[in-house]
Amino acid sequence: MKRLVACVTFDFDAMSGLVARGLTSPTPVSRGEFGAVALPRILDLMDRFGIKTSFFIPGVVIGTYPKLCEEIVKRGHEVGHHGWTHVPPANLKPEQEEEDLVRGSELIVKLTGKKPVGYRSPSWDLSPHTLRLLLKYGFLYESSMMGHDHEPYRARTGDLVHADRAMEFGQPSPLIEMPISWSLDDFPHFEFLRLPTSVTPGLMNASGVLENWLDDFEYMRRTCDWGILTYTCHPYVIGRGHRMLMLERLLEGLVEKGAVFSTLEAAAREYDARVPFKA
Ligand SMILES: [Zn+2]
Repeated sequence: MKRLVACVTFDFDAMSGLVARGLTSPTPVSRGEFGAVALPRILDLMDRFGIKTSFFIPGVVIGTYPKLCEEIVKRGHEVGHHGWTHVPPANLKPEQEEEDLVRGSELIVKLTGKKPVGYRSPSWDLSPHTLRLLLKYGFLYESSMMGHDHEPYRARTGDLVHADRAMEFGQPSPLIEMPISWSLDDFPHFEFLRLPTSVTPGLMNASGVLENWLDDFEYMRRTCDWGILTYTCHPYVIGRGHRMLMLERLLEGLVEKGAVFSTLEAAAREYDARVPFKA
């Protein structure tokens, strides 16, 4: 029997992603602040569909919105690690990265009563040390890589990347990769962002994005008996009216296609049981 899992996950970044890009003036801060308006809408929608999912939250955001984060936990969702600040690990010094990983976990323990088992890097850019650190601190899964579309895999350590000759792949580790992609992330489709060196146009028509998102699930349905497809949304992005309607239609469409909804933790454990790690 087919079993097709949809993980509709949320990164509750609020203003942290904009602040990490140096956008600290009142307007970008307010732009992220809208995430706090949108979050209750999303929690209510998830309740209406009876879905428990995963929220990745940077430490600074837990500190900024403790009550909202408590509400996420109260409604039965998973809280995953999303850095201390929203600076991607690739831009952190190794000591800073480890310190941030530890204090982010400590704050999540205070919030939820248990250690986070999942990690998703801010802006999806791991450092050469991240996987080793996640293994050191006992994480079950990671969700920042794009090596498959709807099948988890074991994250490798020890890769050697050469510019001028064949790449040398390292060894798979017990850490489970729950792959993501920019095409299944709301941010690049919807957010207009003007930085000194780049412009992200965003502001796409939500119906077109919905069609792409449902078609990725449809492709998995036609080609697999088992798979896990992960969507990534941000409350301050998806929380605008026309996009909330799109999110609702996404959930309806996934239900129609026979999706089973899950947290990333449960989906990772399911993969672990199906494909046990062999050293
Ligand atoms: Zn984020």
